[in-house]
Order: sequence, then C-alpha cells, then structure tokens
Amino acid sequence: MCRISPKEVLNQTWLLLRSAVLFASLILIALGTARAADDVAVLYVYASDVEEEKVWTQAEMEEHVNGPLREFWKQQSYGRYVPAAKVFVWRMPITSAELEANKKHYVIDSLRALLPNGGDFDVPEFNPSEYAMTHILLGGNVIGYGGGMGTGDLKVNGELFAGLKLGSYTYSHSTSQYWIPDLRFGYYNPGSVFQGKWNGEVIGYPELGLNGDDGTFLHEWGHGLGLSTHANSWRSETEPFYGEIYWRGKSDFWSQESDYGNLFDVMGGSPHLSLHINAFYKELLGWIQPDEKVVVSATKRDIQLNPLESSNTPKVQTAQIPVSGKFSRPSPFDNSMDYSFYIEYRRPMGLDQHLDHQYLRSNTEGIMVYMTRRQGTGFINSWLLDMSPDNVVRQVSNPRKSLVG
Ligand SMILES: [Zn+2]
Repeated sequence: MCRISPKEVLNQTWLLLRSAVLFASLILIALGTARAADDVAVLYVYASDVEEEKVWTQAEMEEHVNGPLREFWKQQSYGRYVPAAKVFVWRMPITSAELEANKKHYVIDSLRALLPNGGDFDVPEFNPSEYAMTHILLGGNVIGYGGGMGTGDLKVNGELFAGLKLGSYTYSHSTSQYWIPDLRFGYYNPGSVFQGKWNGEVIGYPELGLNGDDGTFLHEWGHGLGLSTHANSWRSETEPFYGEIYWRGKSDFWSQESDYGNLFDVMGGSPHLSLHINAFYKELLGWIQPDEKVVVSATKRDIQLNPLESSNTPKVQTAQIPVSGKFSRPSPFDNSMDYSFYIEYRRPMGLDQHLDHQYLRSNTEGIMVYMTRRQGTGFINSWLLDMSPDNVVRQVSNPRKSLVG
C-alpha cells in the first residue's frame, strides 16, 4: 500500500500547473468497457526450407500461448481478460530466400504478395471470422520485418475475410529454441550486454516463461485489444509538465514527446524495465473499473492506493486528476482534448518483479505520475512524467534514475 496525501499531490500539481484549471466536480468518464472476445487465432507459418526441428510444433506453440502468455494477460487485467488461443501451423509453399528477397515492412504484406492464388492462406480448418483477432507469426530465420497490428483483409482457403483484426511479426524460434534454459524477453542475444545492467543483472523474464520474441507479440497484442498508441514519456529535463518548451524553447510536439518512451510498460519500448500497462490504458480496456479509481476533486481526502500489480479487492489502483480543456501551452497543445493526470504506485511483484533490481528500486518509492489525454475512446495518449527532473535526459544507460515523485 502507498498512503499518499492528496494535499501533497495537489500542492505539487498546483505549483507546477500554474495555469491549469482543475475540475472540482467528479466526472465519471464513459469508459470503454467493452471487453474483447477471448478467442485468438495464432497462425504460425514458416518457409518450406526451414528444418522441422527449428520451429515450434502446434502443441508447443499452443501450450506457450495458453500458458505464459495467457497468464501475462490474466495478471495485466486482474482476471478480466483470459484469452484462449487456437494455434494453426502452416509450412508455406515459399522459401526463405523468396521471403528475404521480397521483404516489405510488415510480414503480412510480403505474404500477400508471395503466396499463390493471390496471397491465399491454404490452412485447413482455419476460419478467421471465428476469432477476435489473428496473429501471424513468421518462424524461421527471416528477420528485419516490423511488427504491426491493425485491421486488414486476409484470403483464407480461397475466401476473402475483410476487416479482420490482424497482426503480423517475425517469431524466430529457430534460434530462441536453443535459449530455453535462458528465456529472455527482449532483444538481446546471449552474450550481449545491456547497458543499464547492474552487477551483471540482465533485464529478462525467464521466470515468466517469456521468450525473446514475446516482447513484440505481447506489445502488438495490446494494440489489437484497442490500445492505439504507445506508452510514451514526456521529455522533461528540468520541469515535469512543460518539457522542452520550458527547457529548450522547443514547442513542436515531437520535441516534447518520446514515443515508446515509457520503458515500464509493455506498450512502451524495449528494454522493458517492468511490464504492467499503465492505469489509464487499463481503465480504457475495462480492467480498472470506476470503483477502483478515485477522481481527485478539490475536496481533501486521503487516498490509499493499491500497487498496480495487486489484484486484491476491494482496491483502488489509480487516482485521476482531471484537468479542464486547456493547458496554457503553445500550439498544438492548446486544444480542447480531455487531459488528466493519473497516479500509480508500483511494486516489484508479478510482471513487475524486476523493479526489485537495485537500479530500478527507487521507482517503487513514490508515485508514478502520467499526463494523459483523450478524445472519446479513439484518440488516446499517455505520457510518463519525470517527477525528479535534474537536467539529465533519462537514458536507457541511466535507468537508475528515479522517475517517481
Ligand atoms: Zn506499437
């Protein structure tokens, strides 16, 4: 538990948000409470020349997706999203060389161009309309594709399925299969050095059974659930709220925002220092319910926050400080989107257990503060603020720096 005084929070917030106006009234946001259907298709495909022993079997893949990956979502959602996956394995009638020679940004675009009969996925018994989303994992040694999830069409068994929720990425188990004793959630090959390591510790998640390519898989899966933007951070070397406008006089959006910059969230970038998705996004997914959040008003009261990682009930897992339409900022920030601040308390538990590492522990000794904005449920953004700014740009090589305030 983290006992915070709203007075302290508000004092701090008011000091820094001199021109912001705080909503005094409770506002119950119409939350996106629709729960995603739980059925997921995983289409594991690989080139015709890939040796059988270098790829997952159908049973192995299904055990993996319905094991560690399902557990990941169960913990993220406090039991509210427990997906069931059906895995289809398909050895494609194309070669690794053809894939290499016809590489596009996304796996799906290459396959559409290369597969016979107009990009037909000739996979018996696979009917994508039976699933809430379809993941296409490209096994083998072909690398260099981007990962992506969106809406698209897929031709399956001669039939065109339109408007599917569709993700595609490489899943190079051909190499990671040999890492099984040393499963690693990240992008580091065995022997590589992570810059931010402390006394030889490496950011990895072997105890969660997550292997090297699950990072992309789970991140894109999050997009598929409706998280249209990343977990970002706000560049603020000296002042948590004003960012580079204050520090360097830059007023363009990209000088303020660091896309993927929240490394504490699977929807942020790699290396993932912890994995829980921020409270604002969880709320949008219906995983934090209205009675599990406190909306801070002008009325003083103590708030007791549960750790974001805890599924104890009853619970309050976040506090929201709504801010009325405008920040006093240069264009394009001076607009009428709904801004709020969200507050979290993180503990080194479950998916976030690496916060117990010495170089990350300071981030559990206070509260994490986010600036969020939204326009309906379609446009969302979340920026982790650096509440201990010190003129030093936070870098992966310096993750010991505390972000909490
Ligand atoms: Zn993404």
